[in-house]
Amino acid sequence: MIRSLILAGASAAALAISAPALAAPAANAPALETLEHEFDAAPAAEGAAAPEMSFGTWGFDPATLDPAVKPGDDFFAYVNGKWVRDNPIPPEYTRYGAFNYLDEKSKGDVKTLIDELVSKKQQPGSGEQRIVDAYNAYLDTAAIDAKGLAPAYPYLTRIFQAKDLAELNQLFAVPGIPGLVGAGITVDDKDPDAYIPAMGFSGMGLPDRDMYLVDSEKNREIQAKYKDYLGWMLGKAGYADPKPAAEAVYAFEHKVAELEWARTALRNSDLTYHKLSRAELEALAPGYPLATLLDASGLGKADYFLAAQIPPTKEKAEELGLTTDQLAEIGGGLPAMMKLLGETPLPTLKAYMAVRFLSAHADVLPSEIDQANFDFYGKVLNGAQEQRPRWKRAIEATEAQLGEVLGKAYAARYFPADSKASMQELVANLRKALGQSLEENSWMSAETKVQAEAKLASFFPKIGYPDKFETYEGLTISPTDPLGNEIAAGDWQWKKDLSRLGTPPDRAEWFMLPQTVNAYYNPSFNEIVFPAAILQQPFFGPSADMAVNYGAIGGVIGHEMGHGFDDQGSKYDAKGRLEDWWTDADRKAFDAKGDKLAGQYDKFCPLDEGKTCVNGRLTLGENIGDLSGLSLAYRAYKMALGGKEDKVIDGLTGDQRFFLSWAQAWRSSIRPERLRQQMLTDPHSPAEFRVNGPLPNVDAWYKAFDVKPGDKLYLPPEERVHIW
Ligand SMILES: [Zn+2]
Repeated sequence: MIRSLILAGASAAALAISAPALAAPAANAPALETLEHEFDAAPAAEGAAAPEMSFGTWGFDPATLDPAVKPGDDFFAYVNGKWVRDNPIPPEYTRYGAFNYLDEKSKGDVKTLIDELVSKKQQPGSGEQRIVDAYNAYLDTAAIDAKGLAPAYPYLTRIFQAKDLAELNQLFAVPGIPGLVGAGITVDDKDPDAYIPAMGFSGMGLPDRDMYLVDSEKNREIQAKYKDYLGWMLGKAGYADPKPAAEAVYAFEHKVAELEWARTALRNSDLTYHKLSRAELEALAPGYPLATLLDASGLGKADYFLAAQIPPTKEKAEELGLTTDQLAEIGGGLPAMMKLLGETPLPTLKAYMAVRFLSAHADVLPSEIDQANFDFYGKVLNGAQEQRPRWKRAIEATEAQLGEVLGKAYAARYFPADSKASMQELVANLRKALGQSLEENSWMSAETKVQAEAKLASFFPKIGYPDKFETYEGLTISPTDPLGNEIAAGDWQWKKDLSRLGTPPDRAEWFMLPQTVNAYYNPSFNEIVFPAAILQQPFFGPSADMAVNYGAIGGVIGHEMGHGFDDQGSKYDAKGRLEDWWTDADRKAFDAKGDKLAGQYDKFCPLDEGKTCVNGRLTLGENIGDLSGLSLAYRAYKMALGGKEDKVIDGLTGDQRFFLSWAQAWRSSIRPERLRQQMLTDPHSPAEFRVNGPLPNVDAWYKAFDVKPGDKLYLPPEERVHIW
């Protein structure tokens, strides 16, 4: 019965030659500035040992240095080249480095916790029992395969049965069903004491608009494989003749790519902050059945909304001084998207949603779906050779549903209390360093300095784990329905977010788990956050040499503080409001530094014989973070020495150990496919340039390694960028 309904809907779709769109906008995630790309947990297969790293007796092993490389020619290779050569990337990984090394460790620790829970009888309905159920349900691939697509049918049926766009719009609001336009709940950038709904859209199955719009051999190859993937998925969704439907879906996605903004424009909060009344939102696309979407989302009574992708008026563009290049990065955005939905045949939209549904939940659907999804997104796009082992994926799925239950247990078992105290001291010293730098600062006026000092004073550090952990009250987890569990968790989160409208933002909330190897800066709360799992070697060792700790975790703390003053973070004031607190002259001086730094990174071109380069604009915030982090950590290290020379260890001075430690933290290898994706989509520069990019701007590095004119990384003093 259900099957025949799908087939009826599907053939109708194929007949009209339809085209699809993309996954739903994220719900509550704020615009965090992270240390590293967030979705990069790609652990090794069972049996295949992941590469090891040794940190010697004081935090760095001098035997890992490559004496054949001159530090001033390629500092990354000098420190990491030997390790990279000796440690091939495991087949499951698309890159492997210090972050993955620690993620492996973290996964192993969490598995120990889960195994213990599984081995004992738990209280029904408790957090522990739900962990066991979520984990076991996900692990049981035999049961998943035996059910086939039956668990997906009710959702696909709802998609295929929608009578018109108004009805389809209601489905955009259903958790688990990928919507084309949707809302999330976020903190208002201009009023960080209030939550507000934020409207967004999706509509592309490829990771970036350039992959549709830029004509290159590589892109043509990917497009062809993507169309095959679409056709295969549509066949599984019940389409008798999936090829024309796949073509239509692709054509639709291409139109979405044309109206989507470039990532560089999306980073710019001068362009993306728009607060609209309900009437103004509706006026963006008259005729679009917005009411059905908002009502179904529970936002029918909301008075105001944020929306990022609304093109600037001509006057606004002039006021901002946008160049032709910048204007080319701005597509028609949300208004154009709503219009496009009205013009696109319904069957095309349905086909798009069907593929996106299968793709979004491929991990808990039959293995052939999971494999097809991996073959395209893992292999073709990122160069992975093998799917990751199920148990590690099961941990991630369980974390996505009940992460803080595990986080609480992880923090209690694996985070030493004295690490927190050491970190508090390091953070305090980094703050002092920034304070001193502000006092000595020569490019900022006294007027702006007062504001900057206020911002520094209001930085709120969070270390290790939250004070209060989420208990997921009301979230029901089934021991036999992993798809249902994914969707129930999304539904639970959405209801929680929705219930927050009208309440003061929860400043105690964490947007990462304690077991996550990463860190972030959240501009709305002006907070810097360091989960427990990153507070390990090579970033931090309780007994590691002081220079090593300052060079790695000190640099990380400085990086997150630096985000508070990067090209975008600097637009938020001490209270976390998106409010300009700079004098025009100071802003100009600061922007000039950013332009110079962006120009330096634009020259890093590791692919296609030097033709494919880092995007200095896309990565500017992160690069400012790295340069700030290094400068502030170095200053803090010197302050901690109190004017004394540090001792020499294994023939290495303190300054040398400091810079070696920074480079070691970015030790990693990457596959070319993944590197290409990273440069196109990730605001973080590739690891190599997180070392070779900032260091040539730091004067002390030249002295420490005797870097001279003629060395490849050498920059004449007038070309160096100094921020702090
Ligand atoms: Zn960052």
